[in-house]
Amino acid sequence: MSKQEKKHTCPENWYKDAEIRYEKINRGEWGWVLDQWQIATEHDIEDGYPGEIGSPMCSHTLLISHCPFCGENLTKIEANTW
Ligand SMILES: [Zn+2]
Repeated sequence: MSKQEKKHTCPENWYKDAEIRYEKINRGEWGWVLDQWQIATEHDIEDGYPGEIGSPMCSHTLLISHCPFCGENLTKIEANTW
């Protein structure tokens, strides 16, 4: 069965710019990641950020096994849904 991207919609995650996803992390491996990014705001442009409002300034992706917000074991979710 081919793998597909998934998202853990977390009731404890109230950040708009953070997501927990199951995705391809390199050529052959898949994993759960915490993806967090920062979008340029009006203030960032005023402060001299060379971009447009709404454009991503930076992002971080971290491999995780448990949800950092609710503590759910994500590797279990994986097993249950396949
Ligand atoms: Zn969660």
